[in-house]
Amino acid sequence: MRMHEEDRARAGLCAGCAHVKVMVSDKGSRFFQCQRGLTDPAFRKYPVLPVWQCHGYEEKGADGRSERS
Ligand code: SF4
Repeated sequence: MRMHEEDRARAGLCAGCAHVKVMVSDKGSRFFQCQRGLTDPAFRKYPVLPVWQCHGYEEKGADGRSERS
């Protein structure tokens, strides 16, 4: 299984969201930090994964940024 497929299975929507920042620990664990959660209390900074429904989701573009900008 390729890395992004693993991320998709584990994180759901967050894996392909323009608002996620993937943090990698010293031990190689990957954490999905929601950038919306840093400023908007409606979102968790570290969402409970997998996320399959989220009103803040925006598809990540090919350049890694939001499709809607
Ligand atoms: S906005 Fe929703 S889908 Fe996007 S990173 Fe945050 S919790 Fe995940």
